[in-house]
Amino acid sequence: MPSAVLADDTSTRAAGAQVRGSQKKIILLKPRGFCAGVVRAIDVVKIALDLYGPPIYVRKEIVHNRHVVEELRGAGAIFVEELTEIPEGARVIFSAHGVSPAVRLEAKDRRLQVIDATCPLVTKVHLEAVRFAKQGYTIILIGHRDHDEVIGTLGEAPESTVLVSDVIDVDRLEIRDPERVVYLTQTTLSLDETREIVNRLLQRFPKIIGPKTQDICYATENRQLAVKAVAPLCQALLVVGSQNSSNSRRLVEVCEKAGVPAYLLDDCAEVQFQMLENVDTVAVTAGASAPEHLVQELIDHLQTKGYEELEEAEIKEEDVRFTLPSDLESFTPRLHAVRR
Ligand code: SF4
Repeated sequence: MPSAVLADDTSTRAAGAQVRGSQKKIILLKPRGFCAGVVRAIDVVKIALDLYGPPIYVRKEIVHNRHVVEELRGAGAIFVEELTEIPEGARVIFSAHGVSPAVRLEAKDRRLQVIDATCPLVTKVHLEAVRFAKQGYTIILIGHRDHDEVIGTLGEAPESTVLVSDVIDVDRLEIRDPERVVYLTQTTLSLDETREIVNRLLQRFPKIIGPKTQDICYATENRQLAVKAVAPLCQALLVVGSQNSSNSRRLVEVCEKAGVPAYLLDDCAEVQFQMLENVDTVAVTAGASAPEHLVQELIDHLQTKGYEELEEAEIKEEDVRFTLPSDLESFTPRLHAVRR
């Protein structure tokens, strides 16, 4: 890596990444790629395969990345949509996005041996939902309908929770007791859009309260801040990530909002000529579920296209790790390294 940009605040750090000379250039954003919740979830599958041997069933994609899922499938993991596809008594892993209590109950009924890879930051939101529902609050959950995480969180207190995805949904809300209302959010939303929605909620329900600390996770926030800081310095952004990865899609949106075209790619094979047309400086990042080897392959690919200069722009240091589920923690030494 030719250089890392380190300074005290975001704007200074980004400025340090400015293009020098007219050579075609790549700005590689940092932090990027795997977050602590994704590392943990993949490790859980790896350890379970190593410890118990295949088949290990995984409900839903363990994380929203095609390459990660294919790699684990190759190692013996069987991905299913519903628990009914799993033989009674078999071992199943719940994905990083979490599940509703109904799914936990179903697993119990089918005598499945559950290993829970739910990200602790998703569990935090579930626990908030349970607590506020018990206290008689109406919960306004900000998130994307049909996302696995939202389905799980909604399931914690379905009678007390309403889902909103934008300010129009907020305007349509009818709340039983506007004096006792709380908002929670999906962990992988756009910071700016969520702020707009929360502001609208505050206008409509001045007594509304929120979580003690924001539900949008550190990894989502840091990757968006990096994109915002570097967008003025490039003519295009390539985001490594899968189409169903919420946090990756938000990175594209954040960049487009800053007026710079951005593209979401599963890997370097999806780079198209028009993405780089008239682009002297291209920025590269990766969603929280995208492995680093795909980023490196993209860099190699771009270098064959003349982007020979490479500079890393570190916007924020990130050093978060989560412990494994307690039933697997003692088996950590058996963990085979995952390609990251
Ligand atoms: S993106 Fe955030 S909430 Fe999702 S797995 Fe990573 S750390 Fe957890």
